Amino acid sequence: MIATGTTTKTGTVSFYINGAWEKPQGRTLHAVTNPATGATIAEVPYADAADVDRTVQAAQSAFLGWRRVPVVDRVQVLYRFKALLDQHANEMAQILTRENGKTTDDARAEVRRMIQMVEMACGMPTLMMGDSLNDVAAGLDCKTIRQPLGVCAGITPFNFPAMVPMWMLPFAIACGNAFILKPSEKVPMTPTYTVELLHQAGVPAGVVSLLHGGKEAVDALLHHPLVKAVSFVGSTPVAKYIYTTAAAEGKRVQALGGAKNHLVVMPDADMPKTVEAIIGSAFGAAGERCLAGSVLVPVGEAAGPLLDLLVKRTKAMPVGDGSEPGIEMGPLVTSDHCGRVAGYVDKGVAEGATPLVDGRQYRAGNGGFFLGPTIFDNVKPEMTIAREEIFGPVLSVMRVDTLDDAIALVNSSPFGNATAIFTTSGKAAREYSSQIEVGMVGVNVGVAAPMAFFPFAGWKNSFFGDLHAHGKDAVSFYTEQKVIMSRWF
Ligand code: NAD
Repeated sequence: MIATGTTTKTGTVSFYINGAWEKPQGRTLHAVTNPATGATIAEVPYADAADVDRTVQAAQSAFLGWRRVPVVDRVQVLYRFKALLDQHANEMAQILTRENGKTTDDARAEVRRMIQMVEMACGMPTLMMGDSLNDVAAGLDCKTIRQPLGVCAGITPFNFPAMVPMWMLPFAIACGNAFILKPSEKVPMTPTYTVELLHQAGVPAGVVSLLHGGKEAVDALLHHPLVKAVSFVGSTPVAKYIYTTAAAEGKRVQALGGAKNHLVVMPDADMPKTVEAIIGSAFGAAGERCLAGSVLVPVGEAAGPLLDLLVKRTKAMPVGDGSEPGIEMGPLVTSDHCGRVAGYVDKGVAEGATPLVDGRQYRAGNGGFFLGPTIFDNVKPEMTIAREEIFGPVLSVMRVDTLDDAIALVNSSPFGNATAIFTTSGKAAREYSSQIEVGMVGVNVGVAAPMAFFPFAGWKNSFFGDLHAHGKDAVSFYTEQKVIMSRWF
């Protein structure tokens, strides 16, 4: 039973500072909406610089004790947290669907991924091990150890409010750091419920903190001298800003940005299976995934059979409230975002692309922020819909003649997050995987999402930093290495 009085179901969400829940008084409260109905389901206060400072101070004090707790004891909190997540997975998925709009199946899948991150971090006693070699010179031994950094901050986006914070938090605290989470202000309830479970798991006061808010809170974290590392996931302009600002303050930074992901289909692909994979990639989670395929690149003869099947399948997709059974695509996250994505569809038409499926017909809903799946053919590289991240259920078709043309087209993109090739030719798949300038590649896989124990990040404008999210990179990111040379006289 969760009884911290934080009211994640309705009411005002709280900050979690030094092990206590706080509702700051006298602040403007911002509405959190259910995207399927447009109804306000909670209100969120935004943290200011003073909130950030006292949170960081409390986190720093907690860090000084937590870093001395043996790693085997630190991960016991995560084992208990994982058990609570298993127990409350359905409730977590429901909260997620309610504030983000994704379907129940998508929400459950996200919660599974979230739990896998925690499971991986439970292995920290092994993951943190250093190297050692005796007698590097006569009587001289050498070893490396990994030590935590201090207070680390995580700033996360609206589209995966359960999973993305877990790319950071469990790794950071298992390594002995204190961690402050500032999730997206659009979806504060899922992260609040997450921290409620961590509180129940017995995380010591100050080791994990939760602040809600926007730019003011983020800027205060970026400039605070006691914040040693910043992990960010969100759009490219903000990722670039976070990277340059925090790096100029001497902090360690990883900033994952936006995407424009190409799905290349060869004429020899298994078309029915490829179409299912494209539907999941382009329209799953309403296209609000950084791994979503947003440009379809049929090679040569592939276009005819592929588009016939794809258009039929897309027109038959059930769109609606993601909490209802049988719905394949839910609403977009906010009214503003829905309007922005619809604006891209208007632009596609105005710039001369051919709409094969026009999602604007789904826009009138029951107050929810709906836009149906959209497919444009004859999209040219100079068109806005070909160049910019849309982050909605809009798929642009750019036909090419050869695999080399496809590779050249994908490599001309300023983004490099994810891509996929669909083919039955091992040679084509190998050629594509090796030549493509993209961080995550799927071969007959539409959403190439690495598991917790592999690293996650794109290339080019999709990522700013060196060490990727989760996997072994997370251990390197959240620790500093030290080399110790010993000689005993
Ligand atoms: P966003 O950049 O608007 O917001 C992300 C976070 O940054 C939020 O916590 C927000 O409060 C904060 N923020 C927003 N503007 C800020 C500013 N000017 N200064 C400081 N902080 C600011 O992103 P979003 O709309 O929440 O999420 C969608 C974006 O995230 C898409 O571009 C998507 O591709 C990207 N994304 C990338 C990955 C990845 O792994 N590369 C994963 C998920 C989402």
